[in-house]
Amino acid sequence: MEERTLSIIKPDGVSRNLIGAVIKRLEEEGLNIVAMKMIRMTKEQAKEFYKIHEGKPFYESVTDFMSSGPCVVMILEGENVIQRYRKLMGATNYKEAEEGTIRREFATDIEKNVVHGSDSEENARFEINHFFNALEIAVR
Ligand code: ATP
Ligand code: MG
Repeated sequence: MEERTLSIIKPDGVSRNLIGAVIKRLEEEGLNIVAMKMIRMTKEQAKEFYKIHEGKPFYESVTDFMSSGPCVVMILEGENVIQRYRKLMGATNYKEAEEGTIRREFATDIEKNVVHGSDSEENARFEINHFFNALEIAVR
């Protein structure tokens, strides 16, 4: 099924000059980018973005981190792209991520784990609308 998902190269990925490396992995896997921009979230915007995690012990810290520097946000489109991209990212904790995944290769910390990906169709819709309007999404 044709789907869209939201991808973020997090502030650690941007500051460590991993934008190109991450995008190369997306392209190699055939995940089509249909929108892309660099933004910096305010703390309030990060709290809204991660509001499903409100109340969890890492909520304050992860929203500080996500607003600590620029991110690259992208929309990926393709067959089953939500699951395919989650698989390519690897587990939240890079120590548990499979060999060959982006987090296994590049992440340094359970929080500073380089990339974000939507985990369901419903969350993908919410996250895409958080960052993009229709004019910013290209038809391929
Ligand atoms: P993301 O939503 O960023 O794609 P994920 O779906 O793998 O990651 P979530 O459980 O949604 O993981 O957590 C969101 C983010 O919060 C994680 O990517 C990580 O940056 C941070 N995080 C999650 N669990 C922890 C934890 N136990 N300690 C510190 N940070 C955490
Ligand atoms: Mg998540």
